[in-house]
Amino acid sequence: MPFDLVIRDGTVVDGSGLAAYRGDVGILGARISRIGRIDERGRQEIDAEGLVVSPGFIDGHTHMDAQVFWDALGTNSCWHGVTSVLMGNCGFTLAPSRPGEHKLVIDNLEKAEDISAEAMAAGIDWTWESFPEYLDAVSATPKAINYASQIGHSALRTSVMGERAFGGVATEDDLREMAAKLAEALYVGAFGFSTSISDHHHTPDGRPIASRSTSWEELSALVEVVGRAGFGVFQLAVDTERAESEDPELAMSFWNELRTLAVVSRVPTTYGLRHQHLEEQLATFDAAAAEGGVMFGQCEAIAATTLFSFMTNMPFDQIPEWRAVRSLPLAEQAAQLRDPSRRAALVAAIEREIATGGFAGTRRNRLSFESFLPLDGISSETLGELAARRGVSVTEALIDCALESDLRVLFQISATREQEDPLLVAMRHPRTVMTFGDSGAHVTQISGGNHQTTLLAHWVRERHEFSLEEAVQMITLAPALAWQIPDRGLLREGMIADLNVFDPGTIAPGTAAIVDDLPGGARRIRQQATGIRSTIVSGVEVFSSGEHTGELPGKLLRGPLAAS
Ligand SMILES: [Zn+2]
Repeated sequence: MPFDLVIRDGTVVDGSGLAAYRGDVGILGARISRIGRIDERGRQEIDAEGLVVSPGFIDGHTHMDAQVFWDALGTNSCWHGVTSVLMGNCGFTLAPSRPGEHKLVIDNLEKAEDISAEAMAAGIDWTWESFPEYLDAVSATPKAINYASQIGHSALRTSVMGERAFGGVATEDDLREMAAKLAEALYVGAFGFSTSISDHHHTPDGRPIASRSTSWEELSALVEVVGRAGFGVFQLAVDTERAESEDPELAMSFWNELRTLAVVSRVPTTYGLRHQHLEEQLATFDAAAAEGGVMFGQCEAIAATTLFSFMTNMPFDQIPEWRAVRSLPLAEQAAQLRDPSRRAALVAAIEREIATGGFAGTRRNRLSFESFLPLDGISSETLGELAARRGVSVTEALIDCALESDLRVLFQISATREQEDPLLVAMRHPRTVMTFGDSGAHVTQISGGNHQTTLLAHWVRERHEFSLEEAVQMITLAPALAWQIPDRGLLREGMIADLNVFDPGTIAPGTAAIVDDLPGGARRIRQQATGIRSTIVSGVEVFSSGEHTGELPGKLLRGPLAAS
């Protein structure tokens, strides 16, 4: 039997979590046709000696909904071995959308997910109205990796209620129409329904996004539609006011409400784990399971994902003294910071803010500038260490360090063991899935898509917390089963040939940098990876040593109700 591609003599880590073994992987068309000994030469051969052959990685939490139309590659996820992403999270989709109301759809997305409105205006050609038409548009657009989508509550609500979606109560007619459009989406291949009731999510003019005006009855009725259809998850950005409350009873009241919904509807319910009350959340998943429901938490590989820079955001941008400075061109900001008296006033403003409780951007993780790590590609010294060495305050060290790069350096938060330990508890729990790259959103604050390479570099190679087999399962079969993505996540004969060939000794996220390549020239953080020899999608090599091969074999993935 001829093979289109043979990956020869690699260490097969098949995604099941079972022990690795040496073997050849033969691919015919889009599928794996043999694993083991292959004597025939393939039309193409990849020498995988000393390398791991794994399924392509799957990320269940992205916001690629808009980006898919201007970025055929699927960056940054595609550079980290991710071959399938789920979009339409947190209630945000670009469909359904009534003509003339695109602005309302964008209003839901722009601020909440920090996606440039200019990029969306320049990069999206609204050829759809309904959700089925949107999926067809995604299907038709050339792409390197695979995309699946949920349908978002904010879009659904806005398409039915228009302006009334922002603040209004849904009438019975509204609800009937939403239910019909939701069912329609599931029957053309949506993988579920998503919403946000998070008080972090606003429109650019400060209103709550549309889904936040839902009643619990409306939400329950829509989740019930998914339950009746018999396929699809319910994903949500949780009620942060309650879930993140210091009051454990208030937090628990929310988890109990969500658990009841999951149990009654029998719809698998998932959200990004909160740092607060972690044990209670994990216990809620177990309790739901005992009662016949499915709940699972989405966890990250990185304790603190936010990146800061003067080119994008700094935590002190909103301090009154800084607001005016930060709106100036970068060179003028640098000039002010080099002026001793201006600098003293600006430093004093930051010190005052630290003394009175810190900044919004850092408060969530209780982080300070001491833990900031300048990504200059040379040193691995935190600002705390730099300040001690130079004998200056941490704020002074931060400003000096930024000025030394003409304000271009990115700062990463280096997490302490204390911050990492709860992450490990979450990762080890059987009802969590490693995901939540958030790729496509917050593009000036996070790299998006680097959790998979971080897991393999940091948690497997450096910390020895997981075996390679366990880690690969966490980012392949586990998400494939959690979202019921068929034919992927496992290396077996007959499965779709989405694969990675990587060096377990060197795979790692690369250095993050700021680029301004979005449609309209908006900025974002770009981060590639090291150690990935090859990424294959549907049997076709799309990346070879980090370089795009020019191939675009990615597919729109449709849920099983589409076939029936
Ligand atoms: Zn999200």
